[in-house]
Amino acid sequence: MVAVPPLVTQPNLDASAEVAARGRPRGRRPGRCDAVDGELEYKATWYGTQVVVADRWFPSSKTCSGCGTINANLKLADRVYDCGACGLVIDRDVNAAVNLARWTPASKAPPLPAAA
Ligand SMILES: [Zn+2]
Repeated sequence: MVAVPPLVTQPNLDASAEVAARGRPRGRRPGRCDAVDGELEYKATWYGTQVVVADRWFPSSKTCSGCGTINANLKLADRVYDCGACGLVIDRDVNAAVNLARWTPASKAPPLPAAA
Protein backbone atom coordinates (compact mmCIF):
# COMPACT_ATOMS: atom_id res chain seq x y z
CA MET A 1 0.00 0.00 0.00
CA VAL A 2 1.23 3.45 -0.89
CA ALA A 3 1.31 6.09 1.84
CA VAL A 4 -0.96 8.97 0.90
CA PRO A 5 0.00 12.43 2.17
CA PRO A 6 -2.78 14.45 3.81
CA LEU A 7 -1.99 17.36 1.50
CA VAL A 8 -0.69 17.66 -2.03
CA THR A 9 0.68 21.10 -2.81
CA GLN A 10 0.50 22.18 -6.40
CA PRO A 11 2.20 25.26 -7.82
CA ASN A 12 -0.22 27.82 -9.16
CA LEU A 13 0.49 27.75 -12.85
CA ASP A 14 -1.76 30.52 -14.02
CA ALA A 15 -1.68 29.43 -17.64
CA SER A 16 -4.42 31.81 -18.74
CA ALA A 17 -2.38 34.82 -17.58
CA GLU A 18 0.70 33.45 -19.34
CA VAL A 19 -1.23 32.89 -22.55
CA ALA A 20 -2.66 36.41 -22.34
CA ALA A 21 0.80 37.87 -21.81
CA ARG A 22 2.84 35.78 -24.22
CA GLY A 23 0.46 33.93 -26.47
CA ARG A 24 -0.19 30.21 -26.54
CA PRO A 25 2.91 28.03 -26.95
CA ARG A 26 3.03 26.18 -30.25
CA GLY A 27 1.51 22.74 -30.10
CA ARG A 28 -0.26 23.46 -26.84
CA ARG A 29 -3.92 22.58 -26.78
CA PRO A 30 -6.31 24.92 -24.99
CA GLY A 31 -7.61 23.68 -21.67
CA ARG A 32 -4.72 21.29 -21.00
CA CYS A 33 -3.96 22.67 -17.53
CA ASP A 34 -7.64 22.47 -16.60
CA ALA A 35 -7.65 18.80 -17.58
CA VAL A 36 -4.53 18.10 -15.49
CA ASP A 37 -5.95 20.04 -12.54
CA GLY A 38 -9.20 18.10 -12.82
CA GLU A 39 -7.35 14.79 -12.84
CA LEU A 40 -5.32 15.81 -9.78
CA GLU A 41 -8.48 16.82 -7.89
CA TYR A 42 -10.14 13.55 -8.91
CA LYS A 43 -7.23 11.43 -7.72
CA ALA A 44 -6.91 13.43 -4.51
CA THR A 45 -10.56 12.87 -3.72
CA TRP A 46 -10.20 9.19 -4.59
CA TYR A 47 -7.33 8.79 -2.11
CA GLY A 48 -8.89 11.02 0.56
CA THR A 49 -6.28 13.75 0.38
CA GLN A 50 -6.52 17.47 -0.26
CA VAL A 51 -4.99 19.58 -3.02
CA VAL A 52 -3.58 22.92 -1.93
CA VAL A 53 -2.50 25.46 -4.53
CA ALA A 54 0.63 27.34 -3.54
CA ASP A 55 0.94 31.07 -3.96
CA ARG A 56 1.70 31.89 -7.58
CA TRP A 57 4.79 33.89 -6.63
CA PHE A 58 6.27 31.35 -4.22
CA PRO A 59 9.77 30.75 -5.63
CA SER A 60 9.77 26.98 -5.16
CA SER A 61 12.56 26.42 -7.68
CA LYS A 62 14.73 29.35 -6.61
CA THR A 63 14.60 28.67 -2.87
CA CYS A 64 17.18 26.32 -1.35
CA SER A 65 15.33 23.51 0.42
CA GLY A 66 18.32 23.19 2.75
CA CYS A 67 18.71 26.71 4.09
CA GLY A 68 16.06 28.90 2.47
CA THR A 69 18.47 31.06 0.49
CA ILE A 70 16.93 32.37 -2.74
CA ASN A 71 18.95 32.20 -5.93
CA ALA A 72 17.29 34.83 -8.11
CA ASN A 73 19.73 34.09 -10.92
CA LEU A 74 18.62 30.48 -11.38
CA LYS A 75 17.64 30.00 -15.01
CA LEU A 76 15.16 27.50 -16.43
CA ALA A 77 18.07 25.75 -18.15
CA ASP A 78 19.77 25.18 -14.76
CA ARG A 79 18.60 21.67 -13.95
CA VAL A 80 20.61 21.38 -10.73
CA TYR A 81 20.22 23.70 -7.75
CA ASP A 82 23.68 24.37 -6.34
CA CYS A 83 23.42 26.46 -3.17
CA GLY A 84 26.35 28.77 -2.60
CA ALA A 85 25.26 29.36 0.99
CA CYS A 86 24.96 25.85 2.45
CA GLY A 87 26.52 23.70 -0.28
CA LEU A 88 23.40 21.69 -1.06
CA VAL A 89 23.44 20.26 -4.59
CA ILE A 90 20.07 18.86 -5.64
CA ASP A 91 18.01 18.29 -8.74
CA ARG A 92 16.05 21.44 -9.49
CA ASP A 93 12.67 19.68 -9.60
CA VAL A 94 13.33 17.70 -6.42
CA ASN A 95 14.31 20.95 -4.69
CA ALA A 96 11.07 22.60 -5.83
CA ALA A 97 9.05 19.55 -4.75
CA VAL A 98 10.57 19.65 -1.26
CA ASN A 99 9.76 23.36 -0.98
CA LEU A 100 6.20 22.81 -2.19
CA ALA A 101 5.73 19.92 0.26
CA ARG A 102 6.66 22.31 3.07
CA TRP A 103 4.50 25.15 1.79
CA THR A 104 1.45 26.03 3.86
CA PRO A 105 -1.28 28.56 3.16
CA ALA A 106 0.31 30.72 5.87
CA SER A 107 3.60 30.79 3.95
CA LYS A 108 4.43 34.07 2.35
CA ALA A 109 6.31 34.35 -0.88
CA PRO A 110 9.47 36.27 -0.09
CA PRO A 111 10.32 38.99 -2.58
CA LEU A 112 12.94 37.91 -5.04
CA PRO A 113 16.08 40.02 -5.01
CA ALA A 114 16.80 41.80 -8.27
CA ALA A 115 18.79 39.66 -10.70
CA ALA A 116 22.37 40.75 -11.16
ZN1 LIG B 1 21.23 26.35 0.91
